[in-house]
Amino acid sequence: MPWPPFDIGTRLSWLGVLLLSALVTLLVGFLDYQTGIEYRVFPFYFLPISFAAWYAGRSGALTTAVVGAASWLVFNYLGGLRYSHVSVWAVNLVTQGTALALVGWLIATVRAALARETLLSRTDPMTGLLNSRAFGEAVRRELAFARRQGQPLTLAFTDIDGFKAVNDRWGHRVGDDVLCRVAAAVRETLRATDIAARLGGDEFAVLLPATSSEGAGVLLERLRSQVAAGVSTEAGSVTLSIGAITCVDGAADLDSLLQQADRAMYAAKASGKDRVRLDMFTAEA
Ligand code: GH3
Ligand code: MG
Repeated sequence: MPWPPFDIGTRLSWLGVLLLSALVTLLVGFLDYQTGIEYRVFPFYFLPISFAAWYAGRSGALTTAVVGAASWLVFNYLGGLRYSHVSVWAVNLVTQGTALALVGWLIATVRAALARETLLSRTDPMTGLLNSRAFGEAVRRELAFARRQGQPLTLAFTDIDGFKAVNDRWGHRVGDDVLCRVAAAVRETLRATDIAARLGGDEFAVLLPATSSEGAGVLLERLRSQVAAGVSTEAGSVTLSIGAITCVDGAADLDSLLQQADRAMYAAKASGKDRVRLDMFTAEA
């Protein structure tokens, strides 16, 4: 279950989050006014600031902190609060505003660090594509969607041909460069809704939602020829063996689908490499 369950923050733009936070801040100010000067409602200002910090970052937190501090001053003055000297207003405004800003700043910093760590835990550091764990999650999600919609889906595994020799002959630095250039070709070839990953070593995977065998054939052939024409080492061009499995209605389990895509890729290797092999998913007993 997503958390928070009613995640309104992610549905709003930066400005939307800011306006909502400012509105709630003013409501807290109004509550401050309504409850008179003896009751202390100041801690409630931290709620809209936390919300703004989480969903609109540091700038959102700081803007809401300013609105919160100003709201505290205006509503308390209107509510009848008076100090012995006007400088007390200034000092309290600054100390309370600083407390609001500091908490907002900390929450925004924690959120940014969390987002960075989440991204790192889902990404292959060398190529920037998804890693195998994130890819597995994506396939599971897209399979469920394809099943609900009765739509086809194609999963392709691709492995660089003779990559070990590239490493042995030219060294790992050249090998790494080849991996990055193949990843770039994968990215360029795919459509916005397609999902690509590096599973490890010289093996990549591509998930093509709502794509039949024919559509996948065109796209994967384009990928194969783009790599063959555009990625090369001193030893010559780099080629890919690609094996793909199409499931017509999403009715496949994850493990069988991965297994059959792997088999299709090895069949492409066995039949001469530098080619695309397309198979249909078959439910296994
Ligand atoms: P095949 O055509 O059958 O695929 O032969 P191959 O030589 O490509 O064999 P294989 O796919 O098994 O080789 C994978 C090689 O990838 C083995 C390893 O040296 C290399 N490798 C794995 N990870 C990395 C990496 O991060 N960087 C580099 N440069 N090489 C890697
Ligand atoms: Mg290989």
